[in-house]
Order: sequence, then C-alpha cells, then structure tokens
Amino acid sequence: VPPLKASRISKEYLGGTFKALDDVSFELQENQITAFVGPSGCGKTTMLRIIAGLEYPTRGRLEVFGKNVQGPGPDRGMIFQAYTSFPWLTAMQNVEYGMKILKVPAAERRERTMNFLKLVHLEKFADSYPRSLSGGMKQRVALARTLAQNPAIILMDEPFGALDAQVRWEMQELMIELIEREKKTVVAITHDIEEAIYLADRIIFFSRQPGRIKADIPLTFKGGRR
Ligand code: ADP
Ligand code: ADP
Repeated sequence: VPPLKASRISKEYLGGTFKALDDVSFELQENQITAFVGPSGCGKTTMLRIIAGLEYPTRGRLEVFGKNVQGPGPDRGMIFQAYTSFPWLTAMQNVEYGMKILKVPAAERRERTMNFLKLVHLEKFADSYPRSLSGGMKQRVALARTLAQNPAIILMDEPFGALDAQVRWEMQELMIELIEREKKTVVAITHDIEEAIYLADRIIFFSRQPGRIKADIPLTFKGGRR
C-alpha cells in the first residue's frame, strides 16, 4: 500500500472557469523524496495543500496508506517557506507545541523535544526565542517540530527558498540525513531544478496549462538510493 495515492485530482476556481489542477494522478513511494517542479502558477502549491488536507479537491480522491482522507491529519506534516515558529515561544516550546496539539504525554514530549533539537543542532538554543535566531535556525526549529510529531509524510513548500546559498546547502544536507534516518516520505516544492536533482528520488514536473503532470521522472540509481 503506497503512503499516498492521488487519483484524478482536479481543483477548479472561479466557479469552474479556471482549473488549477486537471485530472492529476500519482502514487508516492515509501521513504522517497519527491520534488514538485514547474513554472509559477502551475498548481504545485494547490496540490501540496490538497495532500496536506488544507484544501479540498473539486474532484478526485486522496488515500493515505490505503485510507480515504479528507482534511488534515497527524499522518501528514507541513513545513512552510516562511518561518512558522511562534515568536512568544522558545525553540524548545515551539517544538513541544507541535506534540501538545497531538496530545503526546508530557514526559515523552520533553524527551522527544530535546532529541530533535539535538538532531537539528540547536540544543544550545533551546531557550532562545525565534527573534534571536537566524533564518536557517528558525527553519531548523520548524523541521524539528514537524519531525517530532512523527508524521509518515512530510510536505515542504519551498522550505529553503528564503535562505541564502550557504545556509540552503547546510539545510539540504541536514534534511537528507534526517529523512534517511527517520524514514519519511517527503514531497518538496522547489523552483530550483538543481536542488530537485540533488535532493529528490523523483521529480514530478507540472505543466503551466492546465495544471497537469508533464513528466514524472525517477532519479534513483539501480540498487541504491542516490
Ligand atoms: P504554484 O504553486 O505552482 O505557483 P498554485 O498552486 O499556487 O501554483 O496556483 C495555481 C493556479 O491557481 C494559479 O493560477 C493561481 O493563481 C490559482 N489559484 C490558487 N489559489 C487560488 C484561489 N484561492 N482562488 C483563485 N485562484 C487560485
Ligand atoms: P545563518 O546565520 O546564516 O542563517 P545558520 O542558521 O546555519 O546560518 O547558523 C550558523 C551558526 O551560526 C549557528 O549554528 C550558530 O552557531 C551561529 N549563530 C547564528 N545565529 C546566531 C545567534 N543569533 N546567536 C548565536 N549564534 C548564532
């Protein structure tokens, strides 16, 4: 059973006169990173938001591990481009908050929070507020928060788009390391084709008109991951 199966997804706006997605189908493979690539306005964000359950398709069906889903769930975690940490909470409290809303017991929450802050190399900044953290560090808090929630599928909308080249590179390395270690299925939107080739096991290219898949290309080597 695939972690995610999208069947004939369409999304129409303006009373059906505009199609953001037109009959899109694909399955994700477990423990793979899939990149969504394509020109601006081709429907990447709409597709990601539909997978996350933040938007509903006009038509079509979405299954997570063989079960029909509508709306968000703890099996899917989302990381946005802009830093979504709460400014009034410390790094530690931000990571913990993600588990609080999933009602993870307090003792387990504390343990997982420190583990994941260590994994993203922020243990020394556990008590720092987002305003005193750099862009890369804030994005690492978001990554830790989502990983600590332990979703099977992680969705990323231009996760490194706001970071400068060096930090972006560090984040890519960290992400590959964590994804392999935590065995996650990942979908990441990127405008950067080089980043897609570097990070992804597969690239799905969306076409400008009318929101269809133009190409679906596996990047895995025979007998190995990357
Ligand atoms: P991408 O992420 O590939 O840039 P989007 O999924 O954001 O593309 O958008 C796909 C198309 O749908 C765009 O033409 C956009 O203007 C349109 N669109 C997105 N959201 C809405 C909305 N809420 N109402 C009307 N049109 C929308
Ligand atoms: P950038 O600062 O360019 O976004 P990173 O987020 O990767 O890059 O941070 C690189 C390192 O710089 C951090 O691991 C940390 O040691 C140090 N650093 C960045 N911002 C701060 C800060 N506000 N206080 C202390 N150290 C910092």
